[in-house]
Amino acid sequence: MIVVTITATIFMFPKSTPKLAAEAPAKSIDEIASGAKVLVLNYHQVGNNFIALCVPTQVFDEQMAYLKDNGYVTITPEELYEGINGNLILPERPLIITFDDGYVDNYTNAMPILKKYGMRATIFVVPGFTGVHSNYLTWEQLKEMEKNGFNIQSHTLNHRALEELPDDEIRAELLNSKKMLEEHLGHSVDFLAYPTGTYNLHIAGIAKAVGYKAAFTIKYGNVDKGSNVYALERVPIFQTENSMKYFFERIDYRPSFETLGWIKK
Ligand SMILES: [Zn+2]
Repeated sequence: MIVVTITATIFMFPKSTPKLAAEAPAKSIDEIASGAKVLVLNYHQVGNNFIALCVPTQVFDEQMAYLKDNGYVTITPEELYEGINGNLILPERPLIITFDDGYVDNYTNAMPILKKYGMRATIFVVPGFTGVHSNYLTWEQLKEMEKNGFNIQSHTLNHRALEELPDDEIRAELLNSKKMLEEHLGHSVDFLAYPTGTYNLHIAGIAKAVGYKAAFTIKYGNVDKGSNVYALERVPIFQTENSMKYFFERIDYRPSFETLGWIKK
């Protein structure tokens, strides 16, 4: 597997006066461009399975309460995209909550908590599993979730390891999932999360060619002006022994040049 870090400036100055995001205690895009970061959390399951990918329901509730109490405002991938293109002023502490794979507990366990705190979230769904396997969300559930603050995007058609596939199959995984989600949900699907988090420059190029605006990885970090839109950073959250201490450490991401005491210009 080759992991390529593509450098590009994604935060640009606005050409005209950008409109204000809904709940935004606003910072100007200039301030955002000068160093603000977007926290993108990555979850899988919420519930009582004793596996790392499953965060206990009560712990998830505590994590959401902490974020709400500390001024984080949930945005969508589209708002992030508009923000980094200078068309939208992002909230001071922008947050995207993402779930990968589309497990049914996102509906039963996560949704009531997110609704309680008035938070929005994004699910990267594998449409080849939707309504097929019992532990994955159904189309009816996905539609109901979209009415309750969720945004549904693509995690490829069948969750295959893309870097092992020939080009035509990579293309089919990326394009057919997009089309299938768009047909069922009735809106455009413009964002992708790479399955297993692996990607390379070639796969990113195919994602762009089939029409995705941006793609998310599991590369640990925050999205900022140094991010590439086809290799956006996230902060994966797992079940651990001391869940809240671990959570605070995870969301307090510091690039090594900051932890070493160097100052970012
Ligand atoms: Zn996945």
